[in-house]
Amino acid sequence: MSIPCGEKELVWYTQPVRLESTPAIVLRTREYGESDKIVTVLSRAAGKFSGIAKGAMRSQRRFPGTLELFSHVTLDFKRRPHSELAFLDRAVLLQPWPRLLSTLERFTAASHVVELADKVTVESEVGDDLYAIVTSTLARLNAAEPGPATLRLFELAALHASGYRPELVVCRGCAGPLASDRGPVRLVGGIGGVLCSQCRGAEEGGMLLSNDGLACLGHLQDAVTRAGFAGGHDSSAGSSGGPDARVGFANGRDAHGSANGHEPHDPWAVEHAVAARLTSRVEREMALALDMLLAPHLRGRLRSLELLGPVLNDRAGG
Ligand SMILES: [Zn+2]
Repeated sequence: MSIPCGEKELVWYTQPVRLESTPAIVLRTREYGESDKIVTVLSRAAGKFSGIAKGAMRSQRRFPGTLELFSHVTLDFKRRPHSELAFLDRAVLLQPWPRLLSTLERFTAASHVVELADKVTVESEVGDDLYAIVTSTLARLNAAEPGPATLRLFELAALHASGYRPELVVCRGCAGPLASDRGPVRLVGGIGGVLCSQCRGAEEGGMLLSNDGLACLGHLQDAVTRAGFAGGHDSSAGSSGGPDARVGFANGRDAHGSANGHEPHDPWAVEHAVAARLTSRVEREMALALDMLLAPHLRGRLRSLELLGPVLNDRAGG
């Protein structure tokens, strides 16, 4: 068929936009107009993005109650070349997590997880590690009430996935080993690590961290590292896939497993071991330490922090 003039423009406008599909977690949602929804998701294949779901409040066929906070769905969507909002075509529930809404503690912890994931990422930055970590953590919270180390493990893993793994093994000042330091050491968010007891006078900011606090953070960091999670961004993840809220963070690949033939380590197994060692003082130290390590990398203050204290006794007195 020949089009006499303006051919290029016509071709542009008639080219079908490819329908894409990815597993995703709903981070945020708001109603728009009478029946639409604007939804922000963290997806495995396309990172974080926002989209508009036309008729979402009416269509039981395309969005059968699936665009709610924490929903784990397979999302069909089309990118729109001149809009920041994708067009959401359909959302099918992958895995129901009904118990996230069953207690205030679980709801508060899950809200912290999705808000942190939202604020540590920018739109369309592809990083499937964070998707895997959020999925694994929400599955963990659906399975049981949050423990004293649950959110700390998640926060450390989110730092790793975002490329901000803190240095907890050697001093940021003299590079000396911290394991033999009698402490206390100084943790400084802005330098992403710790100054030993000799170097700690060089900085005034941050917080003093006890040996126990440093040791517990180190155990959690080891668990994150051994969880078969590379800590980098991997664009090789496919756009299809079933439920993947496995216990590890491996997200459909076995970074460590393929190298040494072992299954990825279950990070949640360490959570209980660390929780058993926590005194309320160390618990508070760890919460404050993670706040400081995260703060330089977040876009905006976490509203969930206001609830974590009263509901989970998290950051009590902090
Ligand atoms: Zn030092």
